[in-house]
Amino acid sequence: MLDLLLKIQQDREIIKKAEKVLKERPNNDFMKEKKKQFDEKKSEYKNVDSKLKMVKESIEQFEKKLQDVRKELKQEEDKLYGNMKYDLKFINTLEKSIKLKEDEIKDLEEKSLDMMCEEEDLSKERDVLRKKLIDIKDEFYENKKFGNDKIIETKKNMEEAEKDILNCEKKLPPRLLDKFNELCSVKGTGAAKILNGVCSGCRMKVSAVTIDEIKNHKNIVYCDNCGRIIYYGGDSK
Ligand SMILES: [Zn+2]
Repeated sequence: MLDLLLKIQQDREIIKKAEKVLKERPNNDFMKEKKKQFDEKKSEYKNVDSKLKMVKESIEQFEKKLQDVRKELKQEEDKLYGNMKYDLKFINTLEKSIKLKEDEIKDLEEKSLDMMCEEEDLSKERDVLRKKLIDIKDEFYENKKFGNDKIIETKKNMEEAEKDILNCEKKLPPRLLDKFNELCSVKGTGAAKILNGVCSGCRMKVSAVTIDEIKNHKNIVYCDNCGRIIYYGGDSK
């Protein structure tokens, strides 16, 4: 009988712990942190992505401008080296214009090259961020699944403990159960084992009188220090 009482206590402890786990949802903070990280990386990603688009547009504009200037240069060179006869003043102007265009082309090519380097860097940065985003997402869902599994397991343990308690209660004499529950509501636990004359509930040595009561198989024996049930001899004795 005492074993049943101790079992009930143990199961109640399991239920209490399970309730705490269900209330706190152990990895809630972790999930919140991951969500925050994801949002931060996502905005970084968007930022890099829009920069990259701008750089690409600039490169296109430079290329377009380069084409135009090269075409103009070609026309002027054709004029200069063609068979047409121009006066010296016009030839001078033409040469100056060609020189300017050559410089402009050089400048545009340099800028375009710089932009391409920047494009490459941004593109790499974006790839790294994308990978990071996927990692965070995977971690998030893995943990969500882990959390769900943990909750399912906790609920299962709780149900088993509840069933166990009902089974134990059925086997107990009502008077003993009432006394036990009364003690539980006051002290948290209502039954204790005696090991080497020491009560497991209060860790105190029980008196010789109490030991005698146990030896004499008294109906219900209580610890003389804490009052917990430490022996049950049955109603007949
Ligand atoms: Zn005690």
